[in-house]
Amino acid sequence: MNAPLNISMPVEASQAPKAYKLLIDGKHVDARDGRSIERASPGHGFVVSRYAQASAAEVEAAVQAAHRAFEIGPWPRMKASERAAVLLKAADLIETRLEEIARLDALESGKPIAQARGEIGGAADIWRYAASLARTLHGESYANLGDDMLGVVLREPIGVVSIITPWNFPFLIVSQKLPFALAAGCTAVVKPSEMTSASTFVLGDILLEAGLPAGVVNILAGFGADVGAPMVSHPLVEMVSFTGSTRVGKTTMAAASDSLKKVSMELGGKNGQIVFPDADLEAAADAAVFGGFFNAGECCNAGSRLIVHEAIADDFLNAVKALSRKVRVGDPLDDRTKVGAMISADHMEKVAGYVTAAETDGGNVFAGGARLASNAGQYLDPTIIRNVTEDMAIAREEVFGPVLSVLTFETIEKALRIANNTPYGLSAGVWSAGVDTCMSVARGVRSGTVWVNTFMEGYPELPFGGYKQSGLGRELGKRAVEDYTEEKTIQFHRGRRTGWWVG
Ligand code: NAD
Repeated sequence: MNAPLNISMPVEASQAPKAYKLLIDGKHVDARDGRSIERASPGHGFVVSRYAQASAAEVEAAVQAAHRAFEIGPWPRMKASERAAVLLKAADLIETRLEEIARLDALESGKPIAQARGEIGGAADIWRYAASLARTLHGESYANLGDDMLGVVLREPIGVVSIITPWNFPFLIVSQKLPFALAAGCTAVVKPSEMTSASTFVLGDILLEAGLPAGVVNILAGFGADVGAPMVSHPLVEMVSFTGSTRVGKTTMAAASDSLKKVSMELGGKNGQIVFPDADLEAAADAAVFGGFFNAGECCNAGSRLIVHEAIADDFLNAVKALSRKVRVGDPLDDRTKVGAMISADHMEKVAGYVTAAETDGGNVFAGGARLASNAGQYLDPTIIRNVTEDMAIAREEVFGPVLSVLTFETIEKALRIANNTPYGLSAGVWSAGVDTCMSVARGVRSGTVWVNTFMEGYPELPFGGYKQSGLGRELGKRAVEDYTEEKTIQFHRGRRTGWWVG
C-alpha cells in the first residue's frame, strides 16, 4: 500500500472564499433572490469561491443587455481595427494576470498549476489570433453577373450568442469561442460551468478594462437547468456555442431547434492512438501516457484507447506501465504535479465504476486501478486496463478519468475498425515510421483531428471539432470568425431595370 498523498493547504484555505458577482450590462450584480454557489477545491476540500447564482430573471436581464448592445451599441458598428485593439489589449491583460487565473483554474478544477499556466498563455495567444481575423474578415463581390449588376456578399455579425462551457478547461474553452464572436461584432451571454466559474468572471473584468462597451459580454454563474436552458431557448439569442457532454449537447440542440438557432457543438470523445511496430516506440509510449492521463483524463481529446499491434503489445505495454508509475499524482498547486485531483467525488465514483465494470466484463487491471488515499481532496491512480474488447463499455463510452483501455490488432484494417467503432469522432493518433501506414490511418479514421507521430497538440490556426456524435461545426482556424456571422447578399442594379415583369 502506497503512503497517502500528503496535500498541503494553500494560503487560500485560511482566507474567506473569493466572492464573484454576475456581470450584466457592465455592472457587477448579485442574484435578485440572493442565492449563491460555493465551490470547494477538489484537490484540498476547502471552499475557494462563492458565485452569485443566476436564475431565469438574470438570464432575461443579460440577454436584454446583450440585445441592446447589439441593436444600438457601438460594438457591431466599430471598425474592425477598433475591435481588434480591444482583443489585443485583453490578451495583454490575460498575460499580466496569468498567474492569478491559472491558480483559480487549478484550485477550482484540480488541474496541475504548471499545466494551467500553459493553458492561460495559450488562451492569450488565441485572443491575439482572433484579433487578426477581425481585420481580415471580408465578404465577396461578383462583377461577373452582367454589365448592369454587381453582387456583394456581406458578412454581418449574427447577433446575440449564448456561450456555454464545461469545467475541464475553464479559461481555455471560453477563449476558443468568445474572442471570435467578439471579432465578428457579436454580443454574448456566457455561462461557465457551475464548478469553475471564477476565471470567466476575471475575464469579464479584463474585457471591461480593455475597453469593451457595457452589455457586450454578460457573464452568469448557475446551473444548466436554471441558466443554460433559458439561454438556449431565449428568442433574442441567435446562436448557441456549446462545449460539454454529448448528452447535454443533444438536449441543447433540440431546445435550440424550436427557434431554429444556429448551433456549434463541441462534445465528447473516445479517441484511439494506434501504434505500429515500426514506430518510435519510446516516443509513442510517452504519448500513450500523456494521452491517457493528461488533465487526469478529464479531456475530450484524451487518448483513452490504446490500439497496439499484437507483435509489440507485451514489451510496449510494459514500457507504458513503467512510465505510468512515474507520473506524479498529487497537489494541483505543486509545480511538479502531472495529474491533479478529480473534479468531484461523484465523478470519481463514476470513473471507478467503469474500472470495476471493465473487470467484470473480462478486462484486467494492468496498472493502477485504485482511489489514492490522501489527507485531503480526491485522487485516482493512473490506470491501464488490458484484455479490453470492442463491445465493452470501457472501449466505447467516454470515461473521462485517468483510465487507458488497451485493445490489440494484427492488420491495419482491424486497427481502423476498432478506432471507428464508437459513436464519437473527435480525434485519433497514429504512430508509425511508414508514410503509407500513417496516410492510410489518417484518411481512414472518422475524426475531426488526426495526429501523426505526435498527440494532442493544438494551434489557433488549425480548425478543431468532431465527426459523428463529437460535435457539429469547427472552432479555431481561419474561418472561426465566419461562424459567428450571417451572409447577406446585396444586388446592385445600374441604370434603368430592363425585362419588366408586366408591360
Ligand atoms: P456538461 O455537458 O455536463 O456541462 C457543460 C455545460 O452545459 C455546463 O456549463 C452545464 O452547466 C451546462 N448545462 C447542463 N445542462 C444544460 C442544459 N439543459 N441546457 C444548457 N446548458 C446546460 O459537461 P461537463 O461535465 O461540464 O464537461 C465534460 C464534457 O465536455 C465531456 O463530455 C467532454 O468531452 C466535453 N468537452 C468537449 C470538448 C470539445 O472541444 N469537444 C472540450 C472540453 C470538454
